[in-house]
Amino acid sequence: MSSTIIEPPEANRPREYSMLIDGEWLEAADGARYDSINPYTGKVWARIPAGRPADVERAVRAARNALDHGDWGRLNGVERAALMRRLAALVEANAPALATVETTDNGKLLRETRFQAEALAGWLHYYAGLADKIHGRTIPSDKPGFLVYTRREPVGVVGAITPWNSPLLLLMWKLAPALAAGCPLVVKPADQTSASTLELGRLFAEAGFPPGVFNVVTGVGAECGKALVRSPGVDKIAFTGSTAAGIDVMKGAADNLTQVSLELGGKSPNIVFADADLDAVQNGVIAGIFAAGGQTCIAGSRLFVHESVADALVERLVERARSIVIGDPMAAVTEMGPVALTSQLDSILGYIETGRREGATLATGGARPSPREVGDGYFVQPTIFTGVRNDMRIAREEIFGPVLSVLTFKDEDDVIAQANDSDFGLAAGIWTNDVRRAHRVADALRVGTVWVNTYRAVSFTSPFGGYKMSGLGRENGVDALDEYLETKTVWVELAGQSRDPFRMG
Ligand code: NAD
Repeated sequence: MSSTIIEPPEANRPREYSMLIDGEWLEAADGARYDSINPYTGKVWARIPAGRPADVERAVRAARNALDHGDWGRLNGVERAALMRRLAALVEANAPALATVETTDNGKLLRETRFQAEALAGWLHYYAGLADKIHGRTIPSDKPGFLVYTRREPVGVVGAITPWNSPLLLLMWKLAPALAAGCPLVVKPADQTSASTLELGRLFAEAGFPPGVFNVVTGVGAECGKALVRSPGVDKIAFTGSTAAGIDVMKGAADNLTQVSLELGGKSPNIVFADADLDAVQNGVIAGIFAAGGQTCIAGSRLFVHESVADALVERLVERARSIVIGDPMAAVTEMGPVALTSQLDSILGYIETGRREGATLATGGARPSPREVGDGYFVQPTIFTGVRNDMRIAREEIFGPVLSVLTFKDEDDVIAQANDSDFGLAAGIWTNDVRRAHRVADALRVGTVWVNTYRAVSFTSPFGGYKMSGLGRENGVDALDEYLETKTVWVELAGQSRDPFRMG
């Protein structure tokens, strides 16, 4: 039986957190802290250490030590898998509390954070299953008298940087393959939502991981995130966040040639052909843009509808959008909670104003709901713009909120051209009953994930990542292990001959 260690947040008393470095719970180097705000109440619910570059360096040294000199670096894949399975059991036992912490911190619906927290163990089990199957190959050489083989070795110390929208899930996409590969980590969660990652840290010692394998440094991206990216002790950065920050990460990593994988933003097309089942489409479009208040990288924020069904579909969507239950993210009936941050609220309202100015038609929403209905939380009404052109800013830039841009198209070539006319390439949805067309369009779209007659499905089994400005590298699936491994080739001379020293090989 795995123990329940994590407590749900208490009302009226901010929880004081410490950082986890080398198995110890520490204050920031200068003792500074900042407040974490509950976006539903607007009140401080936790206080987080404001880490400094010195804290980052300390954590990087701890991780390096765990790999090079500690017990962690000596474990084989079977032993790492056993630890991961123990961690999985603890994560499962503590999932309800982890979900409550996350909803308190970022306002995401409890029904979604609960589902995500319960799913986390699946990632650990899947990659535990791969940890003991990491091996090189014996290579039949073209040159006589040599044994040549490869070894797969951990890439080294991993710096993981995560965003505020799904802190634990997006961390797990990095953590599980990194542990399977044998890498220790230094995690820098989003400063606004660090609590659930710190809580997760409590489970590592309980599962039996040696100190220094999982370190968490909290603080702002411009200071702690940058320091982690630029640390010469870090071998790989696994980053999820905005495209702008991702570009800065790649530039910072370049000085040390640190490897990077980047999961960035999106402006995903959701494409509806005239023969699609409109009931299923309605559900998929709502899931694509209003689930999580549109604060997901895979939001289906550009809806392309064939011109013959556009009016009928928009009518249904407007009706459903108006009936979405907005309110307390902890309540079972709520369908949309607040957005996570005041800066996010201002940015979304700014984009709605931009859409109006650009000449799009506001079909529904477009404002904050009245505080009489929902209190003082950071709420935005589910918003739909029609008459959007693909060159408008609301069709080109990631809004990261509940704002749908509806565009129309004439035929398959037209919609492929419009859908691909984007800086981003994260995901796309295709709605049609014509199987040939579904595959043709899936082939033609320059995106990392295509959903046919569904939207927003992800799994540890299936690679996920972006084309173009949506990122580099893949998370999930067997492919993700490669992100955390180096290949070493070993040549052994077997013939005992002396060879010409002035000739290669
Ligand atoms: P963000 O880029 O502001 O921050 C993400 C993380 O990076 C945070 O931990 C932050 O502190 C850190 N950071 C910021 N600037 C940094 C820098 N210069 N160097 C190092 N670290 C830095 O993103 P956000 O606002 O927290 O999250 C929203 C963004 O994340 C959206 O653009 C969204 O599309 C993207 N996202 C992508 C995926 C995906 O898998 N592709 C998933 C979720 C979110």
